[in-house]
Amino acid sequence: MSERTTGTGEAPHYDLAVVGAGAVGALAAYYAVRRDPGRRVAVITHAGRGTGATRLSAGFDTPTGHNPAQRALAARSTALFGELAAGLGDAGRAPVDVRWLVTRENAAALDATMADGDRTRPVTGEQRALLDRTFPGLAHDDDQVLLSTAPMTVGQPQWLADRLLDEVLGHPDNTLLEGFRVTEVRRTGGRVELVAADGTRITAAKAILAPGPWVLDGPVAAAARERGARVKKVVAFHIMTPPPPGAPALVLEDADAFLLPHHPGGHWIFSITSPDWDRGPDEPLAIDARDRELARALLARHVPGFLPHLLGGRVFSDCFTPGHLPVVDTVGGDGVVMAIGGSGSGYRLAPAMAEDALNLLDGRP
Ligand SMILES: Cc1cc2nc3c(=O)[nH]c(=O)nc-3n(C[C@H](O)[C@H](O)[C@H](O)COP(=O)(O)OP(=O)(O)OC[C@H]3O[C@@H](n4cnc5c(N)ncnc54)[C@H](O)[C@@H]3O)c2cc1C
Repeated sequence: MSERTTGTGEAPHYDLAVVGAGAVGALAAYYAVRRDPGRRVAVITHAGRGTGATRLSAGFDTPTGHNPAQRALAARSTALFGELAAGLGDAGRAPVDVRWLVTRENAAALDATMADGDRTRPVTGEQRALLDRTFPGLAHDDDQVLLSTAPMTVGQPQWLADRLLDEVLGHPDNTLLEGFRVTEVRRTGGRVELVAADGTRITAAKAILAPGPWVLDGPVAAAARERGARVKKVVAFHIMTPPPPGAPALVLEDADAFLLPHHPGGHWIFSITSPDWDRGPDEPLAIDARDRELARALLARHVPGFLPHLLGGRVFSDCFTPGHLPVVDTVGGDGVVMAIGGSGSGYRLAPAMAEDALNLLDGRP
């Protein structure tokens, strides 16, 4: 580190500081180094690697969006995931067939969310037979239909973040600062100074802040609140029965829930929409009776055969922004950019969020 300091007790200096080692921060750091291998980058996490929402993410990537801006982010992220796979040799992603259970009258609205212009179609007899074999007791209301789309993707978010960080740290001038909780970011003498909870500091020419669910308890809290950012509990149950090879995912579109085969874990992931708003990551977070009731009600209605296997799951917090549209914008002037608002989809939107953040800093459109 000595060559980065003046030797007079000044703080270590970098070209870019990235606060956050989750999917968004890791991608931003990776793109920064790819774009300019000479750029000295410090990635900062308040704890260790894998402390955030990224570690517990289900990694389901349905390239959809409820508004044009979200669809543009989803489409751009799909392209960037493709480039990542080419650049890294493997981006930890695999195709998964997807079937949708949706009220008939909402099918057109579902079609309109597809970022790649794909359209849903009724499941074929063969697909329906596989669904019946895969989801024991599969049932739906008379006004609901089962639809299919082209295969989508399931990734391994934490694996990818680690892989990207390893690439970044492969350059000897780059560093990972762990246990460095940034409490303040200020501009001083043409530099950005990042101050930690214990008073230590580093400086950088520019900074990207990707704090995930810690957004309201750190240096961008005020700016994020102004943009309507909130935090919410995100819950995905585990259905402890092994998904058969080739099992499709089933999206319960009307309930904003999905059943995703998780082959590495030998079980299903059942993501529901927990109603617990304003629950930050430093609070004790647990799957509670209300979440379980919601999950049980959905299973009882649609896949009753999974009810006995509903055991445990994963719970964390995420940052949600209005319209579930991520916010990537400067904070208090040039040189500092925040990339926030995964809104439960922050893995699949992370590449475009990270690219946008870097473009803003680099003055690219
Ligand atoms: C259970 C669950 C399932 C999910 N499933 C999906 C899914 O299927 N598909 C999908 O697309 N998304 C999913 N998500 C959402 C997705 O995981 C998140 O939106 C995404 O991981 C957020 O990434 P991030 O980099 O913004 O934040 P995080 O991964 O939380 O990383 C935040 C980083 O910032 C650091 N940090 C924060 N504040 C400070 C500070 N003051 N000083 C220093 N460091 C700081 C932390 O240490 C951490 O490294 C899911 C989320 C959960 C919880």
